[in-house]
Amino acid sequence: MSISCSEAIEEKVLSGRGLSREEGLQLWQQGDLLELAYLANHVRRRLHPEPAVSFVIDSNPNYTNVCITDCIFCAFYRKPGQKDAYTLTVEQVMEKVQSAADLGATTVLLQGGHNPAIPLDYYLELIRETRRRFPQITPHFFTASEITNMAQVAGLTIREVLQQLKEAGQHTLPGGGAEVLSDRIRRRLAPKKGGAEAWLSVHRQAHELGLKSTATMMFGHIEEDQDIMDHLDAIRNLQDETGGFTAFVPWTFKPGNTPLLKHIPEHAGPTRYLRMIAFSRIYLDNFPHIQASWFSEGKKTGQIALHFGADDFGGTLFEENVHAAAGFVNPAIAPRPAAVGGMVVQQPTGGRDVAPIGAGVPVPGALPAGLHKTAVDEIITLIHESGFDAAQRTTRYEILRRIARPLVAGDAGMPAKGTPKEGSLSGRPAAGPATGAAR
Ligand code: SF4
Repeated sequence: MSISCSEAIEEKVLSGRGLSREEGLQLWQQGDLLELAYLANHVRRRLHPEPAVSFVIDSNPNYTNVCITDCIFCAFYRKPGQKDAYTLTVEQVMEKVQSAADLGATTVLLQGGHNPAIPLDYYLELIRETRRRFPQITPHFFTASEITNMAQVAGLTIREVLQQLKEAGQHTLPGGGAEVLSDRIRRRLAPKKGGAEAWLSVHRQAHELGLKSTATMMFGHIEEDQDIMDHLDAIRNLQDETGGFTAFVPWTFKPGNTPLLKHIPEHAGPTRYLRMIAFSRIYLDNFPHIQASWFSEGKKTGQIALHFGADDFGGTLFEENVHAAAGFVNPAIAPRPAAVGGMVVQQPTGGRDVAPIGAGVPVPGALPAGLHKTAVDEIITLIHESGFDAAQRTTRYEILRRIARPLVAGDAGMPAKGTPKEGSLSGRPAAGPATGAAR
């Protein structure tokens, strides 16, 4: 193997010791792509020795696109009173959860804009009704900044809101809204969201209350290498403190229809994405899982990322509107079941400052053909094609079933081509956070 980073760094990674910030920065800046892949796969195999890649059956609907936060990277939101602004009723959200349940979903990731007209009871009702009507589905609801908005509207502390969400039945948080956890970047991209600590504090308090969460990063815009290191250090340190993160999920900024488009016209390509997947697997030595985002990077790049240290393929995302608003969709390759509810009808709101809940909403119906993204069978096929068994998981990364990769010509001991077989329910061994010592 060609070595472009120092042998000391490589030796440290191969012997299971974490890297310091200086070593990490050197590897990020100077490690060549295949060297990063080699080291990342070594770490991945240490944490997850079995050749299996997990995925979750999920959907990612939205309850409102009304937002007062004006992030310049966002194509999804509408200001209060804009004609295509909407807020769903609890019943309308339940129709979307029902659609996901009909397709076998076990996770619904629900998020929305910062709508000051929504009371806390609405959010609690969404959780309670999901738990009551769909016990098989985990309500993976509300990002950190939505929770901050809830607290501001309700006049409560973040901890009080988190406690109420937990009592209603929420046990996990999605990691969206982190962008890049650098005060410099957040001031420019999302000044109303606060600095890095605003996001970190919500996750810290959630972990202290026993909730699990993911950490994300949206990169490929104005960040510099030190900002990347700030982000990874922030979540690695919080993981050392709480152990509450399940996975790291990086994705690239999609500029379509956003104010940032005029400065960043193209999204980052596969090379930068694969470098990030591999580097994060190496540097985040206390994170159990790294998720490849087929959805945001394209299915082929997602498959390749499984050879750059990622051990999870994300979800089916039957419904997703945020990337779609930026004009980025992945049409399904394989035939898929009936579509879930989508954005079909938009009613004018009559120029009100804040539309009443339920007015001007997208109604359940067939998604336009371009928004048909995938099906469970296709996800399994994509994982198998990449050379791994597929393992369906829960929101908390517990394995539900394992679908063995069909044997193909050239496999050792291979008798004949076969169909996928259900494997052991135990799946791969659970990988807890590493200690983070000796960096
Ligand atoms: S990213 Fe979220 S908080 Fe920012 S403008 Fe869009 S919907 Fe609002």
